[in-house]
Amino acid sequence: MTITRFAPSPTGYIHVGNLRTALFNYMIARKAGGSFILRLDDTDPVRSKQEYIDGIMEDLTWLGLKWDRVEKQSNRLDRYEEAAQTLRDMGRLYECFETPVELDLKRKKQLNMGKPPVYDRSSLKLSEEEKAELRKTRESHWRFRLDWKPIEWTDGILGDRSIDGSTVSDPVLIKGDGQFLYTMASVCDDIDYGITHVVRGADHVTNTATQIQIIQALGGTVPAFAHHSLLTGPQGEALSKRLGVLALRDLRAQGIEPMAVLSHMARLGSTEPIELCSSLDQLIEGFDIATFGAAPTKFDVEDLGPLTAKYVASLSVEDMVDQLTDMGVPADVQPDFWNAVRENTATRAETAKWWDLCANGAAPDVADEDKAFVDTALTMLPEHPWTNETWKAWTGTVKDATGRKGRGLFMPLRKALTGMEHGPDMSKLMPLLQKAGV
Ligand code: GLU
Repeated sequence: MTITRFAPSPTGYIHVGNLRTALFNYMIARKAGGSFILRLDDTDPVRSKQEYIDGIMEDLTWLGLKWDRVEKQSNRLDRYEEAAQTLRDMGRLYECFETPVELDLKRKKQLNMGKPPVYDRSSLKLSEEEKAELRKTRESHWRFRLDWKPIEWTDGILGDRSIDGSTVSDPVLIKGDGQFLYTMASVCDDIDYGITHVVRGADHVTNTATQIQIIQALGGTVPAFAHHSLLTGPQGEALSKRLGVLALRDLRAQGIEPMAVLSHMARLGSTEPIELCSSLDQLIEGFDIATFGAAPTKFDVEDLGPLTAKYVASLSVEDMVDQLTDMGVPADVQPDFWNAVRENTATRAETAKWWDLCANGAAPDVADEDKAFVDTALTMLPEHPWTNETWKAWTGTVKDATGRKGRGLFMPLRKALTGMEHGPDMSKLMPLLQKAGV
């Protein structure tokens, strides 16, 4: 059975970058009729916050990405300790004593000498006596001893990959204060939960190489890996600088629709065109990880606007009943009102602006040169109630009386009644304008 997981650290909210990770893993699981796990990588007790856990769940729920179960790494520290001991017993986990400052110095020296900054395994050479001596004054951390050989996998997006173990620092699995690091926890979880596919950002490629060796050392089955490209801003700039702006909850607050976000993210960076889908099922149907490319993917938040408008326009009056009722649109008016404005509203909430116009009217916008014309035209306005024919009849009469036609006829009249240059089809709108011409 296909089992995937989305594994955010609850140290922040979901943003457009990790939303892609969530979505891909979700779609792989659902497409295969498998299972999707929400795994909270909360081994850092200082930075992990309940408020972010709640936020992540709220955001996934808003998107409709339902998880089959939730797991928390903080509940599994005993398991990680057990795995660490297994690795120690095998001679694959060794104690290290360098301070961050010392490590930094080593790295700088290596770089100065033109060498890759790979940890030199000094601590591996320490005798038991030396270690005992060091323990008296220093905290120790623990590193996994990589096998210095090629680590190979066929990546679902990047294709065949090979990273030599000798080019990577032995990863730290346990920090000086005893905290298990992500790599240790993630590997144990992936093994224990039977994860079959892992999709994550291209920034994890090196982690994948080290994790493959740890999984093998612990006797686990290596999942299929795929690394999606990282998103950049529209000009190719790092997106991280703008993450604050691009948190999912901010998009939600701006009225962006989940289906707009999902439709965009499910195809961005693939060879498939981006088009608005009406359901997650439709997105899943067309999803194929092999269509995604390795190059950094440009993301422009502005692209979500038109998709949102298109989605909103596709909603039925039944879909909108709660919002329309909240805005005060009477039930019997809702179908005509929605029919009139659906194509002219950027977000659901923006619909309120049109109801305000219908219910309360708007200050006329009349250019000086149109003043006389508009005054004349208003004297010809038919009595209420107005119908779908009123606009045509009225503008016809005004045309005959004044000789104006085309834009010069219609635009001043629209602006006089609505105060705006753009808006819904006036034939549909006029019957709804309760105040105009009264
Ligand atoms: N918590 C990790 C992250 O958010 C998970 C990476 C993974 O999928 O293994 O980067």
